[in-house]
Amino acid sequence: MDNKITVNGLKFVPYLTEDEIMVQVRRVAGEIRRDLEGKSPVFLCALNGAFVFAADLYREVGMTDSQIAFVRYASYEGTESTGCVRRMTGLPDNLEGRDVVIIEDIVDTGLTADKMINDVKALNPASVRFATLLHKPDSTKTGFKPDYVAFSIPPKFIIGYGLDLDGKARNLRAIYVISED
Ligand code: 5GP
Repeated sequence: MDNKITVNGLKFVPYLTEDEIMVQVRRVAGEIRRDLEGKSPVFLCALNGAFVFAADLYREVGMTDSQIAFVRYASYEGTESTGCVRRMTGLPDNLEGRDVVIIEDIVDTGLTADKMINDVKALNPASVRFATLLHKPDSTKTGFKPDYVAFSIPPKFIIGYGLDLDGKARNLRAIYVISED
């Protein structure tokens, strides 16, 4: 395992190796393949953090009839009194009647996941499933439970394998947790 690293003055220690990550990515991919056998699902990768997980998961699922799109929440000035509204961008043209699998990097409070699922459901898909690399069940504010979880972890700050600290460290192959000393 790699040693301690410092990002923006904060210390992180190794938490999950590349090999440990891939074992769980393959397990989740197998579950998705089994559940969606005979369908042509659309995967929605939540940018930015899920791009590494999505690249591995999508290839491990290996359903050549499936598609992938890359979505993100963008703020724009709305006409409502609230002023600023978050809207999902990058959605494929027609999700109606499709089987959708959202791919997220981490579920913390569950607020983002709930919003994504509601926004996708508004487009009348046949089904919506939610796959996450990491889940912090003790942080939930909504009771949201992802359909597919690679790792359930305690409520500590994580970087690497797509997850960032102020935009940095997404390129780390392993996952690191913030050091407590
Ligand atoms: P939620 O809406 O579930 O509270 O938050 C989900 C988002 O919070 C994630 O997509 C991610 O951007 C951020 N987040 C939550 N926990 C962590 C963490 O441990 N590390 C990093 N890098 N981002 C996190």
